[in-house]
Amino acid sequence: MQTALGLSVPPPRVRALEDGTESARVGESYQTPPCRKKRYTRFRIVNARITPALRLMSKSEQLPVDAATFEEWNRAPYPLRVRGGVQHYAWGNTDVIPELLGQANPKHEPFAELWLGAHPDLPAHATIGSGEIALNRLMGAAGPVLLGERAFERFDGAFPFLMKILSATKPLSIQAHPNTEQAESGFARDNHSGLDLDDPKRSYKDDKHKPELISALEDFYALRGFRPLDEVDRTVHDIPELSDLVADRTLTHDGMVKLYVKLMQLPQLEVNRRLIPLMQRLRTANENRKFGKADPEYWAIRADDEFSRDDVKDRGLFSVFLLNLVRLRPGQAMYLPAGEPHSYLEGTGVEIMANSNNVLRGGLTPKRVDVEELLSVLTFKCGKPTVLELESDRGSDTRTRYLTPALEFELSRVQLNSGESDAAGGTRGVQLGIVLDGKLTLNSRGGSNLDLERGQSFLIPYGIPYLMSARETATIFVGSGPG
Ligand SMILES: [Zn+2]
Repeated sequence: MQTALGLSVPPPRVRALEDGTESARVGESYQTPPCRKKRYTRFRIVNARITPALRLMSKSEQLPVDAATFEEWNRAPYPLRVRGGVQHYAWGNTDVIPELLGQANPKHEPFAELWLGAHPDLPAHATIGSGEIALNRLMGAAGPVLLGERAFERFDGAFPFLMKILSATKPLSIQAHPNTEQAESGFARDNHSGLDLDDPKRSYKDDKHKPELISALEDFYALRGFRPLDEVDRTVHDIPELSDLVADRTLTHDGMVKLYVKLMQLPQLEVNRRLIPLMQRLRTANENRKFGKADPEYWAIRADDEFSRDDVKDRGLFSVFLLNLVRLRPGQAMYLPAGEPHSYLEGTGVEIMANSNNVLRGGLTPKRVDVEELLSVLTFKCGKPTVLELESDRGSDTRTRYLTPALEFELSRVQLNSGESDAAGGTRGVQLGIVLDGKLTLNSRGGSNLDLERGQSFLIPYGIPYLMSARETATIFVGSGPG
């Protein structure tokens, strides 16, 4: 059926799926209600009454997917073009992501993160035929097709990972993420207290852990993990505002933990009493000899400018002196397991993480800091941070990857000279890819071809072999879930 505008109108049953009446049921069960049953049930009706808003097509979808085209794809899935969503957090760079996407940014808005995933807060949109569908709704309608039955069961019907391009000009909060056990009990506790999912007093948004990996696309600065004990010892004894809190002549690990706990629990007046003279001294020193990005003092001053108000110093500043300052070169990455404190300070990278929103903050933020919960998840491991390099991916000449213990994701980089090809077999799980440079054609079975260029993204459903052929020297990052 064609409308006057030439748009195809799906038949009523599938139109219900397109306009939300049917997928709303499916979508809601996918969006993990707080007290959901552990096992995901397909097409379970969560609410008999569907809210009017969910009857409508999602605001950002451009055209509904034609029913027959969807059914055809569902029967014999093929790669899809996808369009990510942008988060305009205040710390975002105003140029990098707009340039990547080929978008003008006349108001100089911050473009902090480009999200590629099925997260209901900002799902990417997949093109099927001439229509678009949000990935969380596509998950609701065809989850096992996208993920494969095994991964679909294993991840309770949720897309296993979220991939982002992140571009920061200002430091992000110091944070750590819980392990699965801590997330399950913390989430149950918050539910038991009757806190709404978006209540700012809530510390746990879901019952999942959130391992993450950041791969630098340019020089990328971060804080990560406690410094080696002897370094912490030297630093603490060099700073009078810290040294009087330490009883031992030589700092022990236990002493370091006690120091951090004490700093995080100090009354605000006491925080100010210590940080005001310390920061003043650093600023004076900075006038004589400018600190650079390799100096923690540089970041302490930047963070103080950003987060402290005259009468309230941000206690996260203490961490700048206790955590490792890391500089990642392009191509290097860092993996963050549970319990590891970190803060991204500046730079652009590809980030991939398990599909969770559990963040326990430790300062450098105007948001709530749940000190007790943060202290309960930190592992307090000391030492130099491990920097990951790309390693050969299953013997490929064109594809490299980072090796991490994460079950939910793997991040690979494909580099192709003009005319070169990369073939990926059908043993991988669901994949999301983004072209960071160049032009290529992606071929898969059924003769479906996608022409892709810089800034464009794609989705490969589970088990679909494909071939990428570069029409111009190309760099592609691909996030994969398990098969
Ligand atoms: Zn994090």
